[in-house]
Amino acid sequence: MSIFSHPAYDKHEQVAFYQDAKSGLKAIIAVHNTNLGPSLGGCRMWPYADDGEALNDVLRLSRGMTYKSAMAGLKLGGGKAVIIGDPRKDKTPELLRAMGDFINTLGGRYITAEDSGTSVADMHIIGERTKFVSGLIEGSEHGGDPSPSTAYGVFVGLKAAVEHRWGKTDLTGLKVSLQGVGNVGFRLAKLLKEAGAELFVTDIFQDNIDRAVNELGATAVGADEIFDLDVDLFAPCAMGAILNDDTISRLKVGAIAGAANNQLAEERHAAVLREKGILYSPDYVINAGGIIDVYYQQQGDYKPAQVKEHIETIGSTMKEVFQRAEESGETTAHVADRIAEERFGHEDALKKTDSEAA
Ligand code: NAD
Repeated sequence: MSIFSHPAYDKHEQVAFYQDAKSGLKAIIAVHNTNLGPSLGGCRMWPYADDGEALNDVLRLSRGMTYKSAMAGLKLGGGKAVIIGDPRKDKTPELLRAMGDFINTLGGRYITAEDSGTSVADMHIIGERTKFVSGLIEGSEHGGDPSPSTAYGVFVGLKAAVEHRWGKTDLTGLKVSLQGVGNVGFRLAKLLKEAGAELFVTDIFQDNIDRAVNELGATAVGADEIFDLDVDLFAPCAMGAILNDDTISRLKVGAIAGAANNQLAEERHAAVLREKGILYSPDYVINAGGIIDVYYQQQGDYKPAQVKEHIETIGSTMKEVFQRAEESGETTAHVADRIAEERFGHEDALKKTDSEAA
């Protein structure tokens, strides 16, 4: 398996592999870029089919964290960890402690947090062996779970999208469809309801749908029907690759603003949306509320008002992205990448800036 020439390598600073025979831990930590600060990103545990799949995942995810944190104005770089194994069968306190030892070997270049397959409780066990772990805040309203902050950030970004698309700040009567009303989606739906929006929701779990219908007066729609609705805005809050040739051809909305990661099935779909006149809110910009929350947790001096104020900067960042995209004719996704690269000092962006200046 090639490493430096791996398609997802993209100038990673460091990739570390670790095996602990006693606990059975097999893990990879990828540090993409630390220009702005230590790398921070979740620790995912997944039964990868092979090492190549795990490597590809960790490289892709750590690079994404560099862009997300740079865009969120955090003094953080991008990194990610993956543990190869089934979280339901292979996760033991010994394995998590060994993961803590592994993280500690990087001396703070990588800070971990919960992710798919790991929980806040797991972070506490990892934290027995390393201080480079986040999501440990005790006694707070959310106990370390970043979902409320993610939802609030999406709400702020969604309002910026509405203002850009329709020139209004009032959400009264705005028809919003939400795919997924789980941790983030339900909280977003609640904020939208309070702002006067009309909600249409779907989920694969009936109890989640029932909660949105009963508590928020949302209208339940079928899992596939969500793409055909005659509504103003679509908020994907379930899974990735949801904006693809099939769904985009069906969408009748004017804007998209949701929490899901990696919403575009392929890069080119940003251009397809633009051609259709649908304003796309780049996912890693609008869903950065969680990483902002985790950053302040890691700093150790968590002040809710300060966190809220920082999350609200997502609104101005989104406005900058929309404005620049309109002026340049580029897609919002491309503009977001360019701004992030300017912020963390990606050499291609810097070269471009130099030549523009010359
Ligand atoms: P979650 O698992 O609590 O909620 C996702 C919901 O989507 C679930 O209720 C699930 O049943 C539903 N769902 C899954 N597939 C679906 C489908 N095909 N159709 C309809 N509903 C479906 O997860 P979450 O924490 O709310 O995260 C939602 C999304 O936001 C994910 O893509 C996640 O990666 C992203 N995200 C979350 C955070 C965070 O702080 N939790 C931060 C950044 C990004």
